[in-house]
Amino acid sequence: MMKSVNPATGEVIQTYEAYSEKGVEKIINSVDKRWHQWRNTSYFQRSQLIQNLASLLKSNKEKLARLMALEMGKVLREGVGEIEKCAWVCDYYAANAESFLESETIPTDFSKSYVSYQPLGTILAVMPWNFPFWQVFRFAAPTIMAGNTAVLKHASNVPGCALAIEDLFREAGFPENVFRTLLIGSDKVEAVIRHQAVKAVSLTGSTPAGKSVASVAGAGLKKCVLELGGSDPYIILEDADLIAAAKTCTAGRLLNAGQSCIGAKRFIVVDKVYSEFLEYFTNEMIKATFGDPCEPESTMGPLARADLRNDLHEQVSGSVKKGAEIVIGGEKPVRKGAYYPPTILENVQPGMPAYDEELFGPVASVIRVRDEKEAVSVANDSIFGLGAAVFTRDIKKGEMLAETKLQAGCCFVNDFVKSDPRLPFGGINESGFGRELSSHGIREFVNAKTVVIK
Ligand code: NAP
Repeated sequence: MMKSVNPATGEVIQTYEAYSEKGVEKIINSVDKRWHQWRNTSYFQRSQLIQNLASLLKSNKEKLARLMALEMGKVLREGVGEIEKCAWVCDYYAANAESFLESETIPTDFSKSYVSYQPLGTILAVMPWNFPFWQVFRFAAPTIMAGNTAVLKHASNVPGCALAIEDLFREAGFPENVFRTLLIGSDKVEAVIRHQAVKAVSLTGSTPAGKSVASVAGAGLKKCVLELGGSDPYIILEDADLIAAAKTCTAGRLLNAGQSCIGAKRFIVVDKVYSEFLEYFTNEMIKATFGDPCEPESTMGPLARADLRNDLHEQVSGSVKKGAEIVIGGEKPVRKGAYYPPTILENVQPGMPAYDEELFGPVASVIRVRDEKEAVSVANDSIFGLGAAVFTRDIKKGEMLAETKLQAGCCFVNDFVKSDPRLPFGGINESGFGRELSSHGIREFVNAKTVVIK
């Protein structure tokens, strides 16, 4: 049984029967069967359908944002933005998939030789609840435009979103079984990966989930793309525009109530401007209000589940026990719902959860360093490597640090890290491997086939 629970109230919205093994088998076989036809459709046909999907997303954005607000607590304003971004990624691949996958001629001694990008088959997506539409669409748009079919195992707390996505594909006019949702728990994922019709897997989620999926995929020699956790460092140098940096860092930390893999998480500030930055940052963070995600004045809704809120609070308390100091927040509000206030911790040191682990909520870890050199070394002192940012008025220096010193998949100067259909997205180290979006993303689930004619 799967349940949608409203995290703002704790009320059960709806329950769903999880699919049986037989039901899952039947769906995968149907999706595989469909692939043998779908792979022969033209880019033109696919792009027409994916554009229909974009139009449907745009015309239903308020309704879909409300569904997210109810199932996982995202404020409506952000939900509408998420759906618009899904439409963007659909339109982007409708326009660009064909050129990204154009055959490449390679001159040799043969009369003809080239690389042709052929679809692989049915791809499994295992997705998280934090951006319940965006995570799925950024996988599905390129994967399906490339001629693959897809099955989705969404996070267990967003079955309503999972089924709504399947319905959107149907309504857009896609042939049945190009995209299907499987309502199953995580313990059933292994069998799906092992299924002979499933050719590869894309997982967005936590590092432990990534390791588990990677080991099953590895045993079956199936390719995987893993977009995992992060603890993104934001370096504030002494020549930074501190007021602008404080605003940007706050936006980067509080987006989606802090539940973003590329959320700004560790703020590494050089000694000379430490107190000034902390004051500006505190003034910005404290402005954020939390409340009903359907009310326009709420900056943040509740966290997605009560257990996640409680885990976050344990990480905060555990850090405080080890010497971190609370600047603001840090207490569970006495009210119904999985709320957590904007929180700043300072004096954060190695050995504390706030330094070593990912904090998936509106909690900022502030770390004081002597200088730029120490800032870079603290930034890279992490098991993760998803995003990173540096704030400085010296653009040349910022660019040098972003390009050559920070160990992460996406490094920004003077802005918070965000995904964009045009730019590759992904991490290194325990943040995973492989890339989504751009021309890189669409080439993950294709066979780069060498064709040679004597
Ligand atoms: P999660 O617990 O890892 O769940 C993600 C998905 O994986 C869910 O569908 C979950 O199913 C499934 N899952 C969990 N354990 C599994 C296992 N052992 N085998 C197979 N599937 C498994 O993560 P979450 O709490 O939903 O999301 C938060 C995490 O995702 C954070 O660490 C965040 O940084 C990361 N994230 C990364 C990115 C990125 O692009 N790098 C983007 C967003 C989020 P159930 O729900 O049924 O357990």
